[in-house]
Amino acid sequence: MKIHEYQAKEVLRGFGVVTPRGIACFNVDEAVAAANTLGGKVWVVKAQIHAGGRGKGGGVKLARSVDEVRQLAGEILGMQLKTHQTGPEGQKVRRLLIEEGADIKKELYVGMVVDRGTQKVALMASSEGGMDIEEVAAHTPEKIHKVFIDPVDGLVDADCDAVARKIGVPEGSLAQARTALQGLYKAFWSTDASLAEINPLILTGDGKVIALDGKIDFDGNAMFRHPDLLAMRDLDEEDPAEVQASKYDLNYIQLDGSIGCLVNGAGLAMATMDTIKLYGGSPANFLDVGGGATTEKVTEAFKIMLSNPKLAAILVNIFGGIMKCDVIAQGVVAAAREVKLSVPLVVRMKGTNEQLGKQILADSGLPIISADNMGQAAERVVAAAAAHAAGKK
Ligand code: ADP
Ligand code: MG
Repeated sequence: MKIHEYQAKEVLRGFGVVTPRGIACFNVDEAVAAANTLGGKVWVVKAQIHAGGRGKGGGVKLARSVDEVRQLAGEILGMQLKTHQTGPEGQKVRRLLIEEGADIKKELYVGMVVDRGTQKVALMASSEGGMDIEEVAAHTPEKIHKVFIDPVDGLVDADCDAVARKIGVPEGSLAQARTALQGLYKAFWSTDASLAEINPLILTGDGKVIALDGKIDFDGNAMFRHPDLLAMRDLDEEDPAEVQASKYDLNYIQLDGSIGCLVNGAGLAMATMDTIKLYGGSPANFLDVGGGATTEKVTEAFKIMLSNPKLAAILVNIFGGIMKCDVIAQGVVAAAREVKLSVPLVVRMKGTNEQLGKQILADSGLPIISADNMGQAAERVVAAAAAHAAGKK
């Protein structure tokens, strides 16, 4: 689960990380009031969307008067902000952060992720802050320094100081850098984050260390432990199909292909997408209906897949273990009838009560294409999708 910059900064401040003072706003009047409340001579008007690269995209602007804050807030609110992370259609700006302007001497990068190889949290730090860290990693990997943090010891002072020196923090600011890095680590650990990033972490003219940006992604599976963080969820920023799916406990991720997949089990769902690709097709979504798929869940899954205008065929691939094939077959038939299926449907099922399930599909009178194995299923669905797409032209 993602949150906005202003929310990430609030979380980070709770762990001692220093940020500029700022106020989140939803309209121009609030932005003007925020600037007056903050006081000072320079403000930054920052678009709040769940994507980075806002600065380059025109979503972060400096204002030197309250009038300018008003003008910029008016321009940025409601704009369709395009960045390298939003996709070509961009993301509509509905919230702003009005922040005091900082005196930037140097922009640094610090971030944390879980490193699968070492099974530790990895701290990455670079003197090349402010820009895309992917670019730095690609062109000058030697400028990224890593610390693999021992889960028992935590991020110790010595490691903090060593990495801070490598990225150019002067001796006089090391203690502040330690507070920032250890705060970031504590925030990462305590919130079940999967990623936490401060880009840029800045050094100011008078040697202060301040987090000028903040990004935290949380592990969705851990959100039941964090109702306070869950309250920060902004559904406007999420894909509507994924939001709908989450209400029914469906693990759904929208993709840009044309073949809808309904599968039980994440591993089988991944293998199904691979097989579709192997036969020259392209999946429209990842969907794991889980172990306890009811008719209601299957129906909802069909509706969500069918809401995608690109959809040209659906492949249902079920392994009947605990989930019996006849139950799924009943669900598929009921769902196909309810949603008035407008694209070809290929079904492959194996396992418990397989014959019964196939019989239910055959008896339904619905134009369901059945398949005996995954290769055949993928081949048939790719062909059916191509025929459907050709028929529409
Ligand atoms: P993004 O990463 O989405 O582009 P940032 O929050 O990192 O957004 O802002 C982009 C740039 O704008 C920063 O690298 C920094 O140079 C500048 N900036 C952001 N916030 C402030 C601030 N409070 N004061 C001065 N400059 C800022
Ligand atoms: Mg940034």
